[in-house]
Amino acid sequence: MIYSEIFEIETGKRFEIINITEKVNEIVRKSKVTKGLCFIFLPHATCTLILNEDEPNVREDYLRIIKELFVRKDYKHDRIDDNAHAHVTSAITKPFLILPIENGKLLRGAWQEIMLLEIDGPRRRRIYVQIQGE
Ligand code: ZN
Repeated sequence: MIYSEIFEIETGKRFEIINITEKVNEIVRKSKVTKGLCFIFLPHATCTLILNEDEPNVREDYLRIIKELFVRKDYKHDRIDDNAHAHVTSAITKPFLILPIENGKLLRGAWQEIMLLEIDGPRRRRIYVQIQGE
């Protein structure tokens, strides 16, 4: 079977990390799928997803490294809407995740939380979750 849901969040800053694991877990529970796949997709070009540890220091490190790797500096697209760094981050990191579902739960490592990485906020962001399985 296939079950899908879209939820929205408001980001509050230009750069921000928002943990959406609990919301995705809730959708997996609602789907009643016990074995299958969970596809999480952001229909946006200037944010992305992280599957990793959520701890205050490493949160700061993700943001610092993203800012160091994708420095904001007079890129051509910045002349249009000043967010080339965000487009490139999203293009390289990919705004989707696929996780297995086993025994009705997402199969994740102990240090794998699902987080939305906002790189061009504040904005309203939609998160599409599709669950396929039995
Ligand atoms: Zn743009």
